[in-house]
Amino acid sequence: MAARHAAGAHAGAAHRTAAADGERIAAASPRPRVGVLALQGDFERHEAALEALGVTAVRVALPRDLDGLEAIVLPGGESTTMLRMMAANGLRPPLETFVRERPALGTCAGVILLGVDAGGLPAPPFGVLDVSVERNAYGRQIDSFSAPLDIPAVGGTFPGVFIRAPRLRRVAASVDVIARRAGENGSGEPVGVRSGRVVGLCFHPELTGDLRLHHWFLTTVAGVALPAPGPGPFARRGEAA
Ligand code: GLN
Repeated sequence: MAARHAAGAHAGAAHRTAAADGERIAAASPRPRVGVLALQGDFERHEAALEALGVTAVRVALPRDLDGLEAIVLPGGESTTMLRMMAANGLRPPLETFVRERPALGTCAGVILLGVDAGGLPAPPFGVLDVSVERNAYGRQIDSFSAPLDIPAVGGTFPGVFIRAPRLRRVAASVDVIARRAGENGSGEPVGVRSGRVVGLCFHPELTGDLRLHHWFLTTVAGVALPAPGPGPFARRGEAA
């Protein structure tokens, strides 16, 4: 920092103007800040996906972490543990208010938190997605699987990674199904839903390296203005979406 200032002091007027312009541009378009619930679970992979798309990912563990966020991601993990932890540290009320008012993406345990009911939870879920969810509906950890999905919003086929995944047992007529299992085996079962600014997925897009769903959520659902993609493999993938 000191070295940069010293160099600037000796540089000509043109250099200083260019620097000032650069600072103005940076100030006019700060990176959007999107939260990732970080009590437990696979929040780091969501952070990586968001950062690759040019967003500042903010870990949310305490009420004050919600300040100034444009949207939030609720990751996979253990919904029972997350509900217990947020009850213990005071995060539940402000987080519930946030997901009622702001864009939210829930994956796996996250869709359990967003739905209206699911068995065996220590507290009610947030109820912002009018779906009923059956937890661990495909079996135990060993029954985790990958399956092709059909997601028209991101251009068609998408890799589905299911880990002790929940199943959507009831989807209200007012809720849009945005993702289905493809092919005869999957028989079109709904595995992703959207209700306005809230999206719930039974699978884990953050584990695939495919950024199309995060990109779609941020831009189309949440209305987040992403910075122009820079070079690099992740940015190129996001661009292709
Ligand atoms: N089985 C977990 C639950 O009930 C969800 C699994 C996951 O998020 N991968 O919360």
